[in-house]
Amino acid sequence: MNLILLAPPGGGKGTQSSLIYNDFGIHRISTGDLLRKHKEQRTKIGKEARKYMDAGELVPDYILTEILKTELIKEKYKSGFLLDGYPRTLAQAIELESLTENINSKIDLVIILDVPAEELLNRLGARRICKICERVYNLKFHPPDNPNKCNEPCGGKLYQRDDDKPETIINRLKIYESKTRELLEYYSKMPVTQTLDGTGKVQRVYDRVKDLIEKVRQDD
Ligand code: AMP
Repeated sequence: MNLILLAPPGGGKGTQSSLIYNDFGIHRISTGDLLRKHKEQRTKIGKEARKYMDAGELVPDYILTEILKTELIKEKYKSGFLLDGYPRTLAQAIELESLTENINSKIDLVIILDVPAEELLNRLGARRICKICERVYNLKFHPPDNPNKCNEPCGGKLYQRDDDKPETIINRLKIYESKTRELLEYYSKMPVTQTLDGTGKVQRVYDRVKDLIEKVRQDD
């Protein structure tokens, strides 16, 4: 099954994706993670993307297309993939149709997680991520036992993403509002799309997500 998880920054895409992976084995493709890897490794793509990412702006579409073309053909996605952070614009949604067609595939389910702006601001500012296993914590809502250290056996150091600083958060949310509106309109007309309430405890949100995936799987 191929899924798209659409939500604003801080909307819970990363957290929900790992829960989906644990239950259904659907591999996540996070364009944000892929871009951060390029940035860290200082590749040509990373150097180009850096200025946009640090300002909280969207990276140009042609870079995303290049990244996805390489990613989607990997063996591990043959049994399904979950797109997290892509598409973010209408142009990317249209590009995705041809990218999936090229690999004889299609999107089976689009989940839109609805979360109000004030909750996003609260969540993003307190978000911390493990350097090693990438587990996501929130210092207010689901804190680690030690604020600097991951609870998992890796015990990795927790860090705050550069673009989770207050000035950049506001810019990212504005961009999401302006660029993503037409994308949401585009998907809301499609029968594969379902909007879910993304507020409340992680597990409550996941119960809704899981029910939906199970239902779509049964109907297949
Ligand atoms: P994320 O981890 O999904 O919040 O993405 C972090 C940053 O990577 C974003 O603020 C953008 O600068 C860039 N990025 C990730 N995915 C995309 C995309 N689909 N289109 C454009 N820029 C993206």
